[in-house]
Amino acid sequence: MKKLHGIGTSDGVAIGRLMLYQNDKLSIEKHYIENTENELARFKAAQKQAEGALNEIYLKLLKQVGEKDSMIFQIHIMMLQDEDFTEAIQEKIVKEQVNAEFAVWETGQEFAEQFAQMDSEYMRGRKTDVIDISRRLIQCLNKSTAAGPVNSEEPFILAAEDLTPSETVKLDQSKVLAIVTRVGSRTSHSAILSRTMGIPAVAGLEDSFEKLKDGMFVIVDGTSGEVLLEPDKATQENYEKRQTESINSKNKLKQSLGNTTIMHNGRTIEVNANIGHPGDVQSALENGADGIGLFRSEFLYMGRDSLPTEDEQFEAYRQVLKKMGKKPVIVRTFDIGADKKVPYLHLPEEENPALGYRAIRICLDQTDLFRTQLRALLRASAFGNLKIMFPMIISTEEIRTAKAILEDIKSDLSAKNIAFDTAVKVGIMIETPAAAVLSSELAKECDFFSIGTNDLTQYTLAADRMNGKISKLYNQRNPAVLKMIEMAAQSAHQAGIPVGICGESAADPALTEFYLKLGIDELSVVSPSVLSLKSALQQAIQSESGKD
Ligand code: PEP
Ligand code: MG
Repeated sequence: MKKLHGIGTSDGVAIGRLMLYQNDKLSIEKHYIENTENELARFKAAQKQAEGALNEIYLKLLKQVGEKDSMIFQIHIMMLQDEDFTEAIQEKIVKEQVNAEFAVWETGQEFAEQFAQMDSEYMRGRKTDVIDISRRLIQCLNKSTAAGPVNSEEPFILAAEDLTPSETVKLDQSKVLAIVTRVGSRTSHSAILSRTMGIPAVAGLEDSFEKLKDGMFVIVDGTSGEVLLEPDKATQENYEKRQTESINSKNKLKQSLGNTTIMHNGRTIEVNANIGHPGDVQSALENGADGIGLFRSEFLYMGRDSLPTEDEQFEAYRQVLKKMGKKPVIVRTFDIGADKKVPYLHLPEEENPALGYRAIRICLDQTDLFRTQLRALLRASAFGNLKIMFPMIISTEEIRTAKAILEDIKSDLSAKNIAFDTAVKVGIMIETPAAAVLSSELAKECDFFSIGTNDLTQYTLAADRMNGKISKLYNQRNPAVLKMIEMAAQSAHQAGIPVGICGESAADPALTEFYLKLGIDELSVVSPSVLSLKSALQQAIQSESGKD
């Protein structure tokens, strides 16, 4: 039995068979075709279908973001009709007597190669477009390749180079027992999503990833970061026992702490859940969350072909608010950018995306997108206890501009007699060093703070949160990071507003005492961690009173 070591990114044990997912390579099978006429007809039908879908996306986007930003879909349509491209595919089908999927894929690769060799930067950039349209054509030819990253009747352990957040959200939770990846880190959004979904995960296997083979029987320990290959019977039984014990202790916690409110020095500490989709609310409630401390609304924009409309967003927010009843729900306006990619927005490729055009920067630049989201949020505010939060803030001007837009939408809704919560609370994330340093100024502009320790750590320590190679440097307990948290907490309390933590370090038991000392008002963590955090807080409070 071999043991591989990586970074445990989502707790828990899983036992099962591996399925290797090659996300950068579509596995297109080559078939010999006798009836080439039939194959040509299949190709033409797929071409027509892809054109229709692209045209639909183009027209929808045109209305929402204007001509410039929707143009790329016109270009895709033109490429799809390009005679050189389509004739090359048809020739391949006829001359080589191969299936249309294979002909499209091979031709796409050949054209992509040609684009990559060109002198003009613009033409080199067309490489991804030709691959994109080839994929689209293949999906029209064969629906099963469009269904998601991987399909299987049986539950399996997914092994991949890496997973993007949009690939992770598309996974069928009932089938994926665990996730193992060659690269990755604990605070990448894919890792956070696996924790939210309660799927054990190990990242950063690096070169040892090569030892994983399709169909191999393995044990994944997401707590220790170990992957055991072809374990013997005794080891398997040992881990099965651990699985049962872990379920039992979780059930015990549920019974003893399910509806407990944590009190400290006469004040309540809310223990909330972080979610990415309305579907995550069930698990938040089952795990005893006092509210939603962070709804990463950008996930509503991901894994689809076009922007969610105002009504679609309204419905998603309303569902969450209704299910949560009187409990607070903090929705963060979209934090698109960096690893959270939304291809149909065609944001420019950047040298340093984490420091680039993202989050509130997009909102204040493409105000149409921001206004749609704020309008949906305000309309939904009539159905529960909503708080709106702006991400990546670095200045008072940004808060003032965002709030002015919000006020403008409020006036419009009032004029039209559309119901909304006129006193809806507005807060910001403290996740940049600038925000922490300026926190006493920023506190005057808002109703609450929520400290995003994931980004605050990466920006304070200049250590990329996605880079497993420097995971030792990326330390959320670093004194510089703790100092930033302390500054923000003190500024909030001096201004008389509450402060929460919604980054991953909210669940770190080594920091529970520190947060208690600072008088943090709210901690928000992935749902499966809510009860263990309540228990850690209770123990820390008891031992604090024992010391008095
Ligand atoms: C954070 O930065 O700590 C945070 C909660 O936001 P995200 O992880 O989505 O960047
Ligand atoms: Mg962040």
